[in-house]
Amino acid sequence: MGREIRRVPLDFEWPLNEVWKGFLSPDTLDGEKCPDCKSGYSPQAQNLYDLWFGKIPFDPSSTGSTPWRHDSPPVRAFAERNLSNAPDYYGTGEAALLREAQRLADLFNEGWSRHLAQDDVDALIAADRLYDFTHTWTRENGWQPKEPSVTPTAEQVNEWSISGLGHDAINASVVVRARCEREGVESICQTCDGHATIEAYPGQRADAEAWEPTDPPEGDGWQLWETVSEGSPVSPVFATADGLAAWMSDPERGDRWVPQEVAAKFIADGWAPAFVSSARTHGLVSGVEYVGTRDDA
Ligand SMILES: [Zn+2]
Repeated sequence: MGREIRRVPLDFEWPLNEVWKGFLSPDTLDGEKCPDCKSGYSPQAQNLYDLWFGKIPFDPSSTGSTPWRHDSPPVRAFAERNLSNAPDYYGTGEAALLREAQRLADLFNEGWSRHLAQDDVDALIAADRLYDFTHTWTRENGWQPKEPSVTPTAEQVNEWSISGLGHDAINASVVVRARCEREGVESICQTCDGHATIEAYPGQRADAEAWEPTDPPEGDGWQLWETVSEGSPVSPVFATADGLAAWMSDPERGDRWVPQEVAAKFIADGWAPAFVSSARTHGLVSGVEYVGTRDDA
């Protein structure tokens, strides 16, 4: 809950609680949605991501993998952990265990991420992504490569993927990109070059990158701004710091009221973070924080 003091012209007019226009990049700098992709991927790569996450039907045999079953040891171990962690939810006993193991097996069969082919594993190794297999960790030396180097099998990696945290988004992109490369197809959308948007006019993307916010004009007035959004004025413009302090400490401001001396100190400190002592908190808090705290109250 940030507040800051700005010095603006006495006749500065901008609606209270409305973000100053200079802080918002103009709509004209927005690109247009790419007509040919959702997220900047080629149709083939998008299809592979959908397979990875199980958003479209996936067949484990398509990567040479075998479907997980309720009695696959890592699936059963996972189900056992779930039951012992939350017996009230999952129930207890063999029937409950079977039910949960089957649910998990079905879930793990939905996507490619738990059915990698050896080519996928090799791509992850080449990208240095499977430290659990290729490295050892010690407190003294951190991660160190195993000697001689180790390449896990697809089966080992798939088992690993349901025993722990599994693959992250980086692994997904490594595997998808490597497969696109093997199949000789682009992995990014050629229409938008992977941006997911196309330029509204030639040079729009460069203009958007070059855009910088513009501060409100400076002047002799004193005004309180909030910095929770990009920034908007929250008080009238006062000719003097005392005027603003009086406004901030006006009892009519209700839950936004702050003691006169806190307001005065906050204004005197300007935008520099400083510390004030307050009877209310019996400690030291930054002026900005303190004013913010009052606003939250
Ligand atoms: Zn596109």
